Amino acid sequence: MNPTFKPRPPLAPQRGSSLAGKAYWAMVQRVALTAAAIDVGYIALFLWLGSLPLAAINVVSIGMYLGAYRLIQKRYNVAGLLLIWLEVVGHSALGSLLIGWDSGFHYYLLMFIPAIVIANTRGYAAPMVLALLAYYLGLHALSSHLGPLDPLPARSVNIVNWVHICLVFAMSAALSAFYRRTILIAEARLRKQATLDPLTGLANRSHFEALSTNALARSQRDGAPVTLLLCDVDLFKRINDQYGHAVGDEVLVAMAKVLAANLREGDVLARWGGEEFLALMPASPLDAACATAERIRTAIEQTPLDVGQAPIALTMSFGVAQVHSAEDLQAAIARADKALYQSKNAGRNRVSVA
Ligand code: GH3
Ligand code: MG
Ligand code: MG
Repeated sequence: MNPTFKPRPPLAPQRGSSLAGKAYWAMVQRVALTAAAIDVGYIALFLWLGSLPLAAINVVSIGMYLGAYRLIQKRYNVAGLLLIWLEVVGHSALGSLLIGWDSGFHYYLLMFIPAIVIANTRGYAAPMVLALLAYYLGLHALSSHLGPLDPLPARSVNIVNWVHICLVFAMSAALSAFYRRTILIAEARLRKQATLDPLTGLANRSHFEALSTNALARSQRDGAPVTLLLCDVDLFKRINDQYGHAVGDEVLVAMAKVLAANLREGDVLARWGGEEFLALMPASPLDAACATAERIRTAIEQTPLDVGQAPIALTMSFGVAQVHSAEDLQAAIARADKALYQSKNAGRNRVSVA
């Protein structure tokens, strides 16, 4: 690629898949709504168990969760998150102090550990986890020291504890599933960035080499002919100079489409360089590959590209080389390149065979 040409930035980061992105805040909103719904159930539970203070606390909690939901909806994301934190920290403290540590209100605090570490906001994960630990131990000491302030029968405390255990299991599993999905999306995005040319969506050089090495080995084992087709847009620099790089880019995308449309399913097609494309055609003898090249050449020559301004006449030159048995891929590409050079020398817009 010409070093003076500024490539467009790599695939724009897709919002909605990162831990700080839209999907994260949508997840936090879902958590807030789910927690509010669960608290409705808690109100019923505590009324049934006879703890009016805890039922009242859940009414406040519902208000806080709905408030957090609204805040995030209005893009006050951090404020919304803080409100959720405040709710969990306060609720676990009040619950533990009112009916005792054995009620398991503190389990919810543990769910913050993965959330803090994975989000790792500005590198503050370690101090935040330590602060959480200090709070957890402090709450344990205080509630053990004071004993339950509004005791419930042991059986009722047990029921509350079981409900908390089940909910924390379910919420931890859901949170883990969210993190796993986020990682998979990021992985797929990286794989795409590493293997595809961002402008045309075709394979890039290294991906072409990986795919071709496999296809070539398979064909050589079966004794099937493999042919390479290297092509280059004629006088492309003029198009850039005359119409600008954006139009040049559109031409490249259009060329990629024409090539892809004229190749077969099993063929490997790549953007090999700036305005150069390379195809590897397994199970394709030389004459068939030449016919394909000729078909593409004619199609391009006969269809001027309409990009809003006057239609642009385009042509392409081709070099075709059959890969000899046991020949190295790079050696065959070098021969296709020589053939392409012949096409250029002979006046462009033609197909030459190595
Ligand atoms: P020839 O017929 O001999 O191939 O002439 P040419 O003008 O096509 O070849 P040359 O190598 O002189 O110019 C290629 C141009 O392609 C120069 C470079 O700026 C441009 N180019 C390379 N990559 C890109 C790209 O991604 N987008 C655009 N718009 N231009 C690119
Ligand atoms: Mg060119
Ligand atoms: Mg070129």
